[in-house]
Amino acid sequence: MNVILLGPPGAGKGTQARKMVDSYHFEYISTGDMLRKEVLSESQLGKIAKSFMNKGDLVPDNYIIEMIVTSLGKLDVTNLIDGFPRNISQAKSLDKKLIEHKQEISLVLHMYVEDQELINRLSNRAVCISCQMPYKLKFPDEINEITCINSSCDNGNIKIREDDNPESVTRRISIYKEETFPVVEYYKSLDVNLVDINAEGTEDEIFQEISKFIVV
Ligand code: AMP
Repeated sequence: MNVILLGPPGAGKGTQARKMVDSYHFEYISTGDMLRKEVLSESQLGKIAKSFMNKGDLVPDNYIIEMIVTSLGKLDVTNLIDGFPRNISQAKSLDKKLIEHKQEISLVLHMYVEDQELINRLSNRAVCISCQMPYKLKFPDEINEITCINSSCDNGNIKIREDDNPESVTRRISIYKEETFPVVEYYKSLDVNLVDINAEGTEDEIFQEISKFIVV
């Protein structure tokens, strides 16, 4: 079973993905998390990816496709894919990979949120640098007072993502509209099982809505 999470930055994909992993034991694959680990370890890919990510641009397809194809090795498990595909060319690469393995996309969850709400959310978001758990800061200095609450996390340091600055956020939202939203249209045109999720409610309300469509 392959479930894809699509939505603009700040839609709450990472938050909902964690809830889905806890409740339904999905194998979670997030290209953003994978890239941030590469950046942290200063690998060759990390060094290349960093400049694109910090500006809010997409990392070029050839790096992404190579990275994701390796992680999608186990297509017989229940995969939850977050952050991929980000454009039509990535969507077509995924189709090819799934056909090769006689697999299909079981469900696409398209989370939508108004731009202003995305900007508000991203302006007070922080993440754990180790496990990538997202946090909503109540006030800016709270970042110095909190540590990661995830019991299986080994690091605990919380920081603001480098790409959550106003310029990158604006760029990421516009890239989403230009390059990623067409993927929603693409899946609709292929009659893939896609549901639109209004992601403006509370985390629990959104999770309840998503849960209606998960059949495991
Ligand atoms: P995310 O954590 O999904 O918001 O991704 C953070 C950043 O990683 C994006 O703004 C891109 O620079 C990069 N990235 C993540 N996934 C992809 C992808 N599928 N294709 C290209 N770049 C990506």
